[in-house]
Amino acid sequence: MVKAAAGEGLLRAQAEGCKRCPQLVASRSQVVFGSGAVDADLMFVGEAPGATEDREGVPFVGASGKLLDELLTGIAIDRSQVYIANVLKCRPPDNRDPRPDEIANCFDYLERQVEVIAPIVVVTLGNFATKLLRADDTGITEIHGQVEECTVGARTVWLYPVFHPAAALYRRPNLELLRTDFAQLPALIKRGAPEQAPLSSSRGTRREDEEPVVKTAPPESPEPEGTDDDGKPQLDLF
Ligand code: SF4
Repeated sequence: MVKAAAGEGLLRAQAEGCKRCPQLVASRSQVVFGSGAVDADLMFVGEAPGATEDREGVPFVGASGKLLDELLTGIAIDRSQVYIANVLKCRPPDNRDPRPDEIANCFDYLERQVEVIAPIVVVTLGNFATKLLRADDTGITEIHGQVEECTVGARTVWLYPVFHPAAALYRRPNLELLRTDFAQLPALIKRGAPEQAPLSSSRGTRREDEEPVVKTAPPESPEPEGTDDDGKPQLDLF
């Protein structure tokens, strides 16, 4: 716990001074690194901060965040028990799509976040984070609720894609799918972490009946999802 807190704090400090993406540095109010328990068994990964997150410095505090809290309450988990982060730590101006170079710039922060938090389960919220961490273009509609082993940085976790909460805000039938998928999380956490891959830095997934496959290609830019906090249309959420 102390080690995780120190590691997370160090990474946070590095990100807060990060100037790798000049346009985002110029437009951001602050870096939105992540929030929650640094020893969490359950970690969520979304896309990028929206306007509210940029203002408050905390991920998932807008309408999507409220729904995420509600979904967690539904499975008797409090937000304070989980860790929440995004692929990009800085808000793209005017909610424009994250650019491939920005994703590549920021990806090692996410890898190292997963390493220091060392969760059992990483839940990817929506298409963007799912395609990035799976290094695969399969859409969330096809893959949601299916658990896979995934190696992120040096940590092997159960990867569990679900719809982005904004998708449920825009299409209410997706809320039932989200609730159904969330209901599986307590049992998934109880499994404990998968056997750790003997790799120092990699990315890849496998279903439980497959041999391990490690994908080391640099992050590609998945089709982006907007956030719901600016009242702008949400694209590619489904
Ligand atoms: S998005 Fe990530 S890599 Fe880019 S400036 Fe922000 S913290 Fe740095």
